[in-house]
Amino acid sequence: MGSGKSITCESCGDKKMYYLGVGFAFSNVFNIIDQFPLGAQKKIKYISSFFQIERQDMSYEVFECRVCDTSHSRIHLSIKYNNGMVYNPLYRCPECRRKLFKSKRQLQNYKCRRCGKYSLKNSKTKFIIWD
Ligand SMILES: [Zn+2]
Ligand SMILES: [Zn+2]
Repeated sequence: MGSGKSITCESCGDKKMYYLGVGFAFSNVFNIIDQFPLGAQKKIKYISSFFQIERQDMSYEVFECRVCDTSHSRIHLSIKYNNGMVYNPLYRCPECRRKLFKSKRQLQNYKCRRCGKYSLKNSKTKFIIWD
């Protein structure tokens, strides 16, 4: 079961949803393959047709761009195959195209992606169940 957080910017009123956790469709990567960038889709198809997939883990996580100091909701995927090889798709920031990293910070500490100010606030409607 997954949940979501909504963050609102107090300066410009921009609202963003962040999904967190695991949904029902997440039992198999092919149920959600169209959520990944095209290059990652190709790689996943390639791996699954040439190798035995030993383990697949996926969940919604928050990723950060360390250049823009913004946060992004993405699916973290880890596929183990071919005796311990691991594949993780690479995400890029939609603004500056740098690599996104998994975030450990609070969502309200990032810059607003619309106005660039540090004025994000957790909404009162904290969690919604989306599966
Ligand atoms: Zn960026
Ligand atoms: Zn804003």
